[in-house]
Amino acid sequence: MPEARWWSVCEDGCSVRCGLCWHNCTITPGQKGLCGVREHSPYAGLRSSHLGRFVSIALDPVEKKPLRRWRPGTQILSLGGVGCNMRCPFCQNHEISMPERPLTEKPVSPGELVAMSKEFGAHAVAYTYNEPTLQAEYIFAASPQLRDEGIATVMVTNGMFSREVCSEAASGVDAMNIDIKAFDEETYRRLGGSLDVVTRNVERLISAGVHIELTCLIVPGVSDSADGFVRLVDWMAGLSPDVPLHISRYFPSYRYKAPPTDISLMRRFFNAAVEKLNYVYLGNV
Ligand code: SF4
Repeated sequence: MPEARWWSVCEDGCSVRCGLCWHNCTITPGQKGLCGVREHSPYAGLRSSHLGRFVSIALDPVEKKPLRRWRPGTQILSLGGVGCNMRCPFCQNHEISMPERPLTEKPVSPGELVAMSKEFGAHAVAYTYNEPTLQAEYIFAASPQLRDEGIATVMVTNGMFSREVCSEAASGVDAMNIDIKAFDEETYRRLGGSLDVVTRNVERLISAGVHIELTCLIVPGVSDSADGFVRLVDWMAGLSPDVPLHISRYFPSYRYKAPPTDISLMRRFFNAAVEKLNYVYLGNV
């Protein structure tokens, strides 16, 4: 099983700093980072006992990820672990994304994952449901072994990984669906993320030739501003009008109790997006 990477010992010689994602957590011995997954084990450095452990495994059509412009009609093996590096109060997968959940699953080695994918007849493996950045070491270790068998790698992610991790993803991951939570920095900070980090990672990955589709969950009071949505569409059109956009309907979940997104708003956003983008899809409607 791969070991935790992208960390260093701090200047105090005692704490460690994690460089996997934007948070760059400084972690004292015995403590965990903000994700609740990566832990400073005294005398051993940064550890993640979650690598290769999945609480959810399912075979899905690739369109369900959602990926609509990449290998249509194929089957994808979806794997979800535990934990997240953001704190969205409306999380639609909070049962597994929030790290308090006890860890009982046995780890699946990359070799076992290859065998499982072949057994299921999967054309690709998707790391999804929780934030897959927390499995980055595992993903990059498994990807070449999967490719040797003609099986691709997909991440369904918030895109908040560090620049170093993004560089490895550019060569080790074939396709991604990346969430855009809202198109303003202030909202992102409230949710525990950074729009600037996500947009720059999207730009790097597209330049590197990774197939990218974007999803915007339209949450009342978070991402339902027409101005913000127009800014998102304009930015995407500037990258390429061929980047697919999934506009997804929110339903009350976790700590967020606002009613489901108004269908007429979803249609207005769809109509605005198709004026500038070639591939726009409504989800959860
Ligand atoms: S992955 Fe991100 S949130 Fe978790 S410890 Fe590392 S820097 Fe912190």
